[in-house]
Amino acid sequence: MTHVEFEAFEYRQDQSFAPARYRFEGDETRGWRVTRDGATALELGPGYRLLRTRVCGICSTDLARHFLPFPLPQVTGHEVIATDDRGTRYVVEINASHQARGVPHECPFCRAGLATHCPQRLVLGIHDLPGGFGPWLLVPLHACLPIPDSIEDSAAVLIEPFAAALHAVHTIAPRDGERVAVLGPRRLGMLVVAALAGVRAQRRGAFSIAALARDPALLELARSFGATETHLIDDRGAPLRDAAFDVVIDTTGNPDALATAVRLARREVHLKSTHGRASCGLTKLTELVVDELAIERFPEDGPLAGAPRVAWLAGAGAPAWLRSSAEVRSGDAATLAAQYELIRDGLPRADAVVAASAAQIDAAIRPRAGREDALLRPRGTIFVHPTADLAGSPLLGAVVARGLRLSTSRCGDFRQALALLDSDAELRRIGERLVTHRFAARSLPEAFAVAKSRACIKAVVAHSEPGKT
Ligand SMILES: [Zn+2]
Ligand SMILES: [Zn+2]
Repeated sequence: MTHVEFEAFEYRQDQSFAPARYRFEGDETRGWRVTRDGATALELGPGYRLLRTRVCGICSTDLARHFLPFPLPQVTGHEVIATDDRGTRYVVEINASHQARGVPHECPFCRAGLATHCPQRLVLGIHDLPGGFGPWLLVPLHACLPIPDSIEDSAAVLIEPFAAALHAVHTIAPRDGERVAVLGPRRLGMLVVAALAGVRAQRRGAFSIAALARDPALLELARSFGATETHLIDDRGAPLRDAAFDVVIDTTGNPDALATAVRLARREVHLKSTHGRASCGLTKLTELVVDELAIERFPEDGPLAGAPRVAWLAGAGAPAWLRSSAEVRSGDAATLAAQYELIRDGLPRADAVVAASAAQIDAAIRPRAGREDALLRPRGTIFVHPTADLAGSPLLGAVVARGLRLSTSRCGDFRQALALLDSDAELRRIGERLVTHRFAARSLPEAFAVAKSRACIKAVVAHSEPGKT
């Protein structure tokens, strides 16, 4: 058994910070007890190792943390570089699933390759597991990846958001000749621009990368990250026509931006923001992103490939072609969720949902009050029926009228992100280009105040080395 004791700032519901005293005690095989101000706060099973935090980035999720459906107070921070007692540097994937911990399990989500959606996972710095704004971390055994020597701390601290950006690019799969726009490039959006440029170079692809912002300085910066065209989106710039871009990736973190993204996109809007607020008539957009769900028009003549279990919420009856090709269950979302929960072969969820209003979409995303599980599987699709009530939602209007698709994504694959950075010296400069402010961890409240300001793009906090102050 080992133990460490330390003081760390906790983030509170009122957005303030206060220090608390922590103790981690245990080991990798027997599990850990986390004590907070003398009382047991968390009992962790096996599969976690103790690492020291070296650097931790501040991201929009941290700044909007009080909107998210996880308990506070908490030691937050999830974009970490950590070190072991030999000084080896690691990046750490944030989802503490059965698979990441390497423990025996019967979990249908981890078995289906959806470990980042494991319903029993804790999430480093977001859900219960103390995060990187504290000096010590308990991290899942298989979640720590050594950082290649070619990648300096300045770029390595961006691996978590860069992997997420790369996952977004793989999800939208840009085609040659397309124009892909990044709306509101800033701390995450610049990394999406960089990931687009990295993938384009890797595949020798031929799509254009547009940056759309209100601030000319950000457009300038976006060019250094690989944007091939830039547009000011206020009165000073030429107005952009409807459906000017094939794909628009909304990285603004601003609920009002979704309607703009919908107007400007022809084929697809990709939503990367978890701002916790309502937009386009939908209240569960953050949960939509967390579950990596998509919204599409229901194909009236079929088929619905890859969806053997369909939850039918729409009023009109399901067509015969669907009933003959899938197991269709009709009813309200909460009742159906309770039925799917009993499934023992495969995921206990529907594969797809057919809805006919914004309220039904919200209900499909979180059917039961006080519970964080969806009616449909992670990465599933909610189809909007053509008879849908579209009042108040330009998004659903565009889905039905124009066949626009809304896709979302959350965490990415750190191995792919490390490999791409390792192979591309130009891309490795993301850190020096993006990180505008650095703070010591003891100045965390000040770091947050600056991170919220327009002057800051990316702030990181560093913990002092052992033996130094
Ligand atoms: Zn983040
Ligand atoms: Zn699991």
